[in-house]
Amino acid sequence: MKNLQTHIFFLLIITLLLQACGSDKYVRREFTYTKTVDTHSKKIDFQTKKLYKVGHIFADNRFDGARLNDFTQINDSTYQVLITPENTPINPSPWYAFKIWSERPDTIYLQLKYKHAKHRYFPKVSQNRKDWQKIKSFTYNNDSTAISFKLPVKKEAQWIAGQPIINSTDTKIWLDSLASNLWVSQPKVIGKSAKGRPLYMLKIGAGDTKNKKIVVLLSRQHPPEVTGFMALKYFVNELAQNDTLTRAFYQKYEVWLFPLLNPDGVDLGHWRHNAAGIDLNRDWANYRQPEIDAVTNFIVSESKKHHVKPVLGVDFHSTFKDVYYIFDDSFHSVLPGFCEVWTAGIDRTVAPFKTRKSPYGMAQPISKNWFYKQFKAEAMTYEVGDETPVNIIKLKAKAAAVTMMDLLLRY
Ligand SMILES: [Zn+2]
Repeated sequence: MKNLQTHIFFLLIITLLLQACGSDKYVRREFTYTKTVDTHSKKIDFQTKKLYKVGHIFADNRFDGARLNDFTQINDSTYQVLITPENTPINPSPWYAFKIWSERPDTIYLQLKYKHAKHRYFPKVSQNRKDWQKIKSFTYNNDSTAISFKLPVKKEAQWIAGQPIINSTDTKIWLDSLASNLWVSQPKVIGKSAKGRPLYMLKIGAGDTKNKKIVVLLSRQHPPEVTGFMALKYFVNELAQNDTLTRAFYQKYEVWLFPLLNPDGVDLGHWRHNAAGIDLNRDWANYRQPEIDAVTNFIVSESKKHHVKPVLGVDFHSTFKDVYYIFDDSFHSVLPGFCEVWTAGIDRTVAPFKTRKSPYGMAQPISKNWFYKQFKAEAMTYEVGDETPVNIIKLKAKAAAVTMMDLLLRY
């Protein structure tokens, strides 16, 4: 009798343990890392939105995505645009965007002067906010905290910015247009940013989430990283095609797309942070910011609801040069070594435009590490160079999407 009781007792313990292990991924956990930053909200400086008029020149930051903190005249023909960050310390990614025009046609010198950073983004000019040309000729000041260039101005406004301006409204227009594709759902609001802007997600798949393996796509935690967002757009456009590959892919997989994780930062013209002054890609351990709280809660609860789980997370960013941050051999995800094989496959397709690959440790609370810690999922940070030409961004992103689907079906 005693033996039987002992058996039952151990069986019970084993059952409980199995249940605990099985459901663990459906409870959002907090994680500890060796390299962390405090992600409690901080104060930020809001830029004053106004129309500046200096002599016969106008400068304007009254639109979403703008950044211009002051506009002054330095001498007869030189005007200065002051660019300051939302708060400090901050990553050296001095974003700027503004409109400029003149009462009469003229040619002026424009100086971009940065506080707390050196020059980074090539200036670009647009007559319509859609088509952008790079201003290739400019001069630096002594310590690279300012650049100057010649600019013909006229009565019609021109946009000057560090990258093409893609704000939250532009993103929503794209999402609405995507939803007309066979596989793509309507945008769904999964939460609100610190300033109350909607956080959207879309599902791309063949209807029923049940029994599917999930691929999660993220973008724009960091506002100026527009080239990474462009890559995401081309990547998603490929996933939205109706062809033999996607038809096979959506039998087994579903894609969850979170295209704009930091809408406040994007619309407020931030260099890096959200409206609470925090780098969102350092908050994937304690979820103190509403944007990361919402996206992680959604992923965990939606996975639980359909009894599915993410097997791959891809987060699109920009940095100085194209690079794929993947896991090294010591990580054993549910798709062991997938990103290594995937990125090699992309390189083969787009040769000779190979991308540097860098194993990146598990030291920081970034999204890539969260996918692994929470779900044992494979993950990658897809980094696009600040000045990678659009045709190369497109070529690589299309190859990445096709190769990913093809390989996942065979993995
Ligand atoms: Zn980034």
